[in-house]
Amino acid sequence: ATQPYDDANIFARILRGEIPARTVYEDAHALAFHDINPQAPHHVLVIPKGRYVSWDDFSSRANDAEIAGFVRAVGAVARAAGLVESGYRLLANTGRDAHQEVPHLHVHIFAGRPLGPMLA
Ligand code: 5GP
Repeated sequence: ATQPYDDANIFARILRGEIPARTVYEDAHALAFHDINPQAPHHVLVIPKGRYVSWDDFSSRANDAEIAGFVRAVGAVARAAGLVESGYRLLANTGRDAHQEVPHLHVHIFAGRPLGPMLA
């Protein structure tokens, strides 16, 4: 079972404006900001505004408007950054084996260089 949502997690604090982030996009359902420790020339995180721990939590509990809004926001962020032609990679770590560090669902957008084959 998914752990309960922790309102003290770092992305909850960013959503509340308690700590700064380099925001690139915001709408009713989603917020996007630069990763503090970028792993590619372009590394942005997109998070839903709702209190969801992980992809599992979101996909099982969020309503259709939240899910559609979030998926569209991820696409819009990449499009607005001009990444469609060169391409980009999406990654959502969920849980222990995936090394999810922050317990608020986030999708990484990596781009800006050839990223190589997928991880095994
Ligand atoms: P995860 O391993 O959970 O998928 O990725 C968490 C990501 O959040 C990491 O890439 C990490 O660099 C990023 N991160 C952690 N703390 C902060 C922060 O305070 N601000 C920002 N912008 N990114 C953070």
